[in-house]
Amino acid sequence: MLKDSCPGSREIRTPYPEDIKCFWCDTVSEIWSDEVETICKGCGRTISREMEPTCIDWCPAAKECVGIEKYERLMKGRDKCGGGVDGT
Ligand SMILES: [Zn+2]
Repeated sequence: MLKDSCPGSREIRTPYPEDIKCFWCDTVSEIWSDEVETICKGCGRTISREMEPTCIDWCPAAKECVGIEKYERLMKGRDKCGGGVDGT
């Protein structure tokens, strides 16, 4: 493992809960800092949000830093927002 990660990836490696308000029913649900979307506990719909730009966008060691699984999940969430996913 890397001896000490950069501060930017800390919230992804050590997620913390945040409040997110449902677009449809205004119920406040919890979303973790490493999650792009969560299920509303009020209406059961998926609530997604825009992720803040982080070092994983540009850091060449990002995959090793946060782990390949999280890296790909975060990147997949972003592609959804931008559109133009080509399945590869
Ligand atoms: Zn809802």
